[in-house]
Amino acid sequence: RDFEDFFLKRELLMGIFEKGFEKPSPIQEEAVPIILQNRNVLARAKNGTGKTAAYIIPCLEKTDTTLKTIQVLILIPTRELALQTSAIVKEIGKHMGVQCMVTTGGTSLKDDIMRLYNPVHIIVATPGRILDLASKKVADLSQCKTIIMDEADKLLSPEFQPVLEQIIGLCNEEHQICLFSATFPVTVKTFCQKFVHNPYSINL
Ligand code: AMP
Repeated sequence: RDFEDFFLKRELLMGIFEKGFEKPSPIQEEAVPIILQNRNVLARAKNGTGKTAAYIIPCLEKTDTTLKTIQVLILIPTRELALQTSAIVKEIGKHMGVQCMVTTGGTSLKDDIMRLYNPVHIIVATPGRILDLASKKVADLSQCKTIIMDEADKLLSPEFQPVLEQIIGLCNEEHQICLFSATFPVTVKTFCQKFVHNPYSINL
C-alpha cells in the first residue's frame, strides 16, 4: 500500500512526503482508513510503530479549515509528549492551513485564553487544562467529533478518569474515540466498555 491509496488531500500528502515518510507503516495502513470512516478504534500499539502519524494523518484529513471550530481533540498524559505531538501535527499539516494549539498544565492560562480568540481546529492537550478551558467556556468542544487518547494506560489513571469523562461529555454527541495504548489494564477496559462502543480493534 501507498499513502496515495488513502485518497488524501494533496496538501496533506505533501506534508507526509516532506516528513520523509515513503510508505505507511502497518498500523497506519490499518488505522488511517478506519479513523477516516469515523469509527471508534482500540489500538494496542507500542512506541516506534508509527502510531502518532497513524492518528494525526486522518485527523488532518478530516479537518475542515473553512470552519473556525475545534474539530479534533488529542489527549496526551504529559506536557512533554503533548509538545512533541503538536509539533508533528504542525509539520505534517503545514501546507493545509490547519491551526493546531497545544495546551497543558504548568503554563499560563491567560496565554491559552488569548490564543483561543483566534481559530483553532486541532487541540493537543493534557486533561486538566483542557477541562479547565472547556468548563470556563473558553474552549468550545461542542463541534469536536474526533477524540484521540494516546498512551491511554497513563491517561486513565484514577485521578484523570473523572476528568476524561467530563471532557468527553463536553464534546459533540456524535463523536468517535480512538484510543491508543501499550497495555490494557482494568482501568482502560472499564473505560472502553462505558465510552468506546463497538470499536474496531487493532493489535500489532
Ligand atoms: P511513533 O511510533 O509514532 O513514536 O513513531 C516512531 C518513528 O517512526 C517516528 O520517528 C516517526 O517519525 C517515524 N515514522 C512514522 N511513520 C513513518 C512512516 N510511514 N515511514 C517512516 N517513518 C515513520
